[in-house]
Amino acid sequence: MADPFDLTVIGSGPGGYVCAVRAAQLGLKVAVVEKWPTFGGTCLNIGCIPSKALLHATELFEEATHNFDRLGIDIDGPRLNLEQMMAHKDDVVASNTSGIEYLFKKNKITAFQGIGTIAGPGKVIVTPESGAPQEIEAKAIVIASGSVSTPLPGIETDEDRIVTSTGALSLGKVPENLLVIGAGVIGLELGSVWARLGAKVTVVEFLDRILPGMDGEVAKQFQRMLSKQGFTFKLGTKVTAIDMGEKGLVAHLESASGGSDETLEADVALVSIGRRPFTEGLGLDTVGIEIDGRGRIKTDGHYQTNVQGIYAIGDVISGPMLAHKAEDEGVALAEILAGQAGHVNYGVIPGVVYTNPEIAAIGKTEEDLKAEGVPYKIGKFPFTANGRAKAMLATQGFVKLLADARTDRVLGAHIVGKNAGEMIHEIAVLMEFSGSAEDLARTCHAHPTLSEAVREAALACGLGAIHI
Ligand code: FAD
Ligand code: NAD
Repeated sequence: MADPFDLTVIGSGPGGYVCAVRAAQLGLKVAVVEKWPTFGGTCLNIGCIPSKALLHATELFEEATHNFDRLGIDIDGPRLNLEQMMAHKDDVVASNTSGIEYLFKKNKITAFQGIGTIAGPGKVIVTPESGAPQEIEAKAIVIASGSVSTPLPGIETDEDRIVTSTGALSLGKVPENLLVIGAGVIGLELGSVWARLGAKVTVVEFLDRILPGMDGEVAKQFQRMLSKQGFTFKLGTKVTAIDMGEKGLVAHLESASGGSDETLEADVALVSIGRRPFTEGLGLDTVGIEIDGRGRIKTDGHYQTNVQGIYAIGDVISGPMLAHKAEDEGVALAEILAGQAGHVNYGVIPGVVYTNPEIAAIGKTEEDLKAEGVPYKIGKFPFTANGRAKAMLATQGFVKLLADARTDRVLGAHIVGKNAGEMIHEIAVLMEFSGSAEDLARTCHAHPTLSEAVREAALACGLGAIHI
């Protein structure tokens, strides 16, 4: 057998590959085990990256359809070439996944293709699709096996007509009627993709609001914006069954509180009711690794499971299922394993919904602050009063900043607007340094930029906004 590794990482998603790279940079001898033929996990292969390729392309398609004439660009209406749009998406995925291959080579990380099963502390069996299993030894094992789509009881996905996000990223034609089950991030992002290309999208959501967890005011306003874009929402409703007829699907809907049945016809149904940790094949039972009531691997403050030398990060443990959260845990754990003080600040993790307009959030919502009894003040500024937004025909939305009423410290921010996902980071840095609304308000911002609306919201927290 070859020399043991310092570290074997199971899974090459944003948690696993980033952990491996940082550990190798810090001088550890690292192996990665990945069951898929390409690296990068859900995020690069069937998640963040392909969805953003389609969101970008369809946003331009919509822009050309609705806004070009106002900008003085006369064209004969754009025509959709779906095959090329999908080819663009596939190219972007290939370029990103091969980038990870390059990073592994550059950092002298040994990659094994196959299912990784923990046979005991320090021992991982790799079972490739063909060929004999192989045992590798390491001082530490990191589980970064990610998550999969949560199934809806009684409704089977075939990735053709009843799809998860994976099928929704590769439909062969634009559905006339798309049923989206779940008004979360996936439902609204992928619903947007197909709505922009002409699908009539109906979103069925169990709760009485969209985007649970996000600031309530943001969710309410955003629902109105999506309704104007042609989305139909059926809130407080659940799908109980879907009949697959030759002509199409017939979904049976029921009020969440019971009773009042109705049916809805669709060509394609997207099941997007959340994701659950993926732990199959890891051999958790063999080594006695504990999971919680929601199937997540339990870890301590240093990402160690109840078994010494076996760690877990990313979607498979608690916390938001976000690529950058998994990455930061990967870095923190690599640093801890190398004897440093790795740490993740869970209070400052941005969340972005890449719709049009985008939604970006960080820190506390108003609902959180009310529940915690923290006195707060709000600074708000609409993009209708921002010069650059007017020039870009992007005046929808606002910036909402929440600061402690006693100390002026910024506790949270919520942005609905074009490029919100880029603007949120100045607030992230501010919050990392425990900055105040006045710190932000007194920082010079370039003119004309959308970010001036962030400064104006900070001014509105105390000193007073200028442009409204
Ligand atoms: P994953 O990326 O799921 O990777 C796990 C890897 O482990 C996989 O490659 C899997 O094959 C491998 N694996 C599992 N078990 C084994 C085993 N036993 N042996 C070998 N290999 C194994 N997040 C964002 O932050 N921004 C976004 O814009 C965003 N968009 C998304 C869009 C969609 C459609 C979806 C589905 C998700 C999106 N996410 C987004 C969420 C993001 O993809 C996840 O949070 C992230 O990928 C989690 O990283 P991870 O490393 O924990 O796991
Ligand atoms: P989600 O948790 O965001 O939303 C699921 C929605 O489905 C919720 O609104 C929930 O109330 C609803 N729901 C649950 N059961 C239902 C039922 N039986 N009928 C109707 N509605 C029901 O989950 P998602 O959209 O599937 O996304 C999964 C994960 O992927 C999320 O945790 C998210 O963090 C991650 N993701 C992130 C991004 C991003 O960062 N831009 C993009 C896509 C996915």
